[in-house]
Amino acid sequence: RSFVTLAGVGHRYDPNPAIPSAVTGIDLDIRRHEFVAVVGPSGCGKSTLLRMIAGLLTPTDGEVSVFGKQVDGPRDDVGIVFQKPTLLPWLSVRKNVLFPLRHKYGRYSRADEKRADELLAMAGLESFADKMPDELSGGMQQRVGIVRALLLNPDILLMDEPFSALDAMTREQIGFDLLKIWEENPKTVLFITHSIAEAVLLADRVLVMSKRPGTVLDVLDVDLPRP
Ligand code: ADP
Ligand code: ADP
Repeated sequence: RSFVTLAGVGHRYDPNPAIPSAVTGIDLDIRRHEFVAVVGPSGCGKSTLLRMIAGLLTPTDGEVSVFGKQVDGPRDDVGIVFQKPTLLPWLSVRKNVLFPLRHKYGRYSRADEKRADELLAMAGLESFADKMPDELSGGMQQRVGIVRALLLNPDILLMDEPFSALDAMTREQIGFDLLKIWEENPKTVLFITHSIAEAVLLADRVLVMSKRPGTVLDVLDVDLPRP
């Protein structure tokens, strides 16, 4: 049974029919714990698609549902990682990743702190938990952002070009670190990237979008042995 279902989903920002829809006619079933990457040229509607799944944007056509229930607003069970991690500069790395828990529940427990340290270790940040964000490289900060999103234990993790500001080697290292994390914390993931290599490394399926008319061109199954 699929977990996230898109049926005839489209979005038009401008009611003027002379301006094309950003996204049209997307049919997609994502299984629970499946990792789906989305690639395609700039402006083909990747972010629009992600925002509709997140419930941040309402489709103007069709329907997005999660476990059979129509998405009609921002959801608690969705974690989002954007291009820049926006860490709070006055809090340590550990306190940054615990911050959403504190914000949501007013407090966090010893067990949460232990979990934070475990996830940081898995992301290769074991010795950085007590450092301040500006002591970390861009790639490390981005990993902190991902750990922060995972600590809330979302059912669905949406990532919009989280590594596009990083150099190729850093991206690759983060890719391998993430694979370890997914193995131990399987999540339903939608991952937008400009990098086909990254998509193939991380994803079970790659959705290729085309610029006109903002729709899915092809869906590729990735069946590579994991390193
Ligand atoms: P990317 O290509 O990295 O997805 P863009 O530069 O296209 O980002 O968009 C950056 C921001 O500007 C996004 O939040 C998007 O919603 C907004 N945006 C993009 N195109 C338009 C537009 N034609 N009119 C208004 N806002 C737009
Ligand atoms: P991508 O993420 O693939 O770069 P987007 O989803 O950001 O693509 O944008 C798809 C199309 O929708 C583009 O033509 C973009 O200019 C337009 N667009 C994006 N956001 C907005 C917005 N807030 N208002 C109007 N047009 C937008």
